[in-house]
Amino acid sequence: MDFGLTEEQIILQLKARAFVDKYIKNEAIKRDRIQNAKDRIPWDWIKLADKEGFRTMGVPKEYGGSDQSILNMCIVGEEFGVGDLGFAVIMDQCWKMSHLFKDAMTREQKEKFIPKFVNDPLATTAIGISEPDIGSDHQGYYDHKDIGMKTTAFKEGDNYVLNGTKHYISNGCMAKLYFITARTDTSKPLSESGAVFIVPSDTPGFKPGFFHEKSSQRLATNGCFHLENCKISNDNILLGEGKLVELRSKYMPGSKAEAAATVLGVGRAAYEYAFNYAKNRKQGGKLIIDHQAVSLMLAKMIMLLDGARLQIWKAAWLADKSDPDAKIQGLISKVRASEAAFEVCTLATEILGGAGIMYDHPVEKYLRDSVSFLHSDGTNQVCSLRVTKALTSEDNSKIYGF
Ligand SMILES: Cc1cc2nc3c(=O)[nH]c(=O)nc-3n(C[C@H](O)[C@H](O)[C@H](O)COP(=O)(O)OP(=O)(O)OC[C@H]3O[C@@H](n4cnc5c(N)ncnc54)[C@H](O)[C@@H]3O)c2cc1C
Repeated sequence: MDFGLTEEQIILQLKARAFVDKYIKNEAIKRDRIQNAKDRIPWDWIKLADKEGFRTMGVPKEYGGSDQSILNMCIVGEEFGVGDLGFAVIMDQCWKMSHLFKDAMTREQKEKFIPKFVNDPLATTAIGISEPDIGSDHQGYYDHKDIGMKTTAFKEGDNYVLNGTKHYISNGCMAKLYFITARTDTSKPLSESGAVFIVPSDTPGFKPGFFHEKSSQRLATNGCFHLENCKISNDNILLGEGKLVELRSKYMPGSKAEAAATVLGVGRAAYEYAFNYAKNRKQGGKLIIDHQAVSLMLAKMIMLLDGARLQIWKAAWLADKSDPDAKIQGLISKVRASEAAFEVCTLATEILGGAGIMYDHPVEKYLRDSVSFLHSDGTNQVCSLRVTKALTSEDNSKIYGF
């Protein structure tokens, strides 16, 4: 085994770190406090990230991207998460969807959609599954005809006509290209009726609604939008009737590890801030880092972060090899990293004492940000249940969602 990064990976890591130091680190907290969600979208950072090649990292080389490995996206995702979780999520939504570009699109679809994404420096992508009545149920732990997905896609000649509402969608109402789930037959369970459609934002009937206001990932949008008689041609079916389940096998192993890396970055930022604070703050006649109680908290933080990073890199390494174990390891990495980041941010708040919740310091923001991934990308409870379900199944390949 070799735990070291290659020279190329170290260069990529340092490039991402320099990008964050130059543009994001000192600005993020100010932007986080802007009142209106629409005014917080960091279009300038997206453009700069495009210029540096980060936005299109997951796109195949023949279409103008750099086709980076999942591990490399995790390395960059952690650095971006140190800067600002919302920005990291905006980028990660592009990386996640690039798995669908590569592994689910037909050649015709690739030629139709990827150049448009690559050539527009402000283009982002999004995936719309969640609805007011379908949250954890779409994570595939449970499958029944009465499941709450209400978005329908009924066939009409050569088209499918989509109707419904999606909510909480990352990059929602700002992205140019959407992957949207719907059911073609409401009398059948999702495993038989679920499908995925490619929907550009300028499709008639695609109606942006509003941005959810929230306390976490404030620079990323969570949009609510509607589909009103939105006509989608057969050419834009990503996964046809009953193939929704393939969505997870095509992009989940990599996407969970990538998401985990972004929240790990938040934990690292909190640790770094608390460490420097403890080296400068004096109480009881000495620096607080020299009080054993504080130094133990710092050690715990490092252990949590280090363990989560190892798990993420393992999951990414397996996903890059298309190893079947990557699916479970991806889920585990998301749970472990989000729990680690949340605990590290909580400890950072304690090390800062009263300053932990004051707006003079960024730690209260890190804590708010870290909370989001306890639920985003599937709640940790449901992700954990899926791990057990996979391990207790006689045939993993037949499990819904795997
Ligand atoms: C920041 C953020 C970004 C998001 N981005 C996207 C996105 O880009 N695209 C998208 O489609 N969705 C997105 N979501 C939605 C996300 O996938 C859901 O919030 C998540 O799956 C949980 O659904 P819910 O919020 O409806 O909670 P619920 O499903 O209502 O869960 C409530 C509670 O019940 C528990 N629970 C539910 N079902 C079970 C069960 N079977 N067994 C045991 N416990 C259960 C949960 O663990 C939780 O504790 C995002 C959410 C957030 C917070």
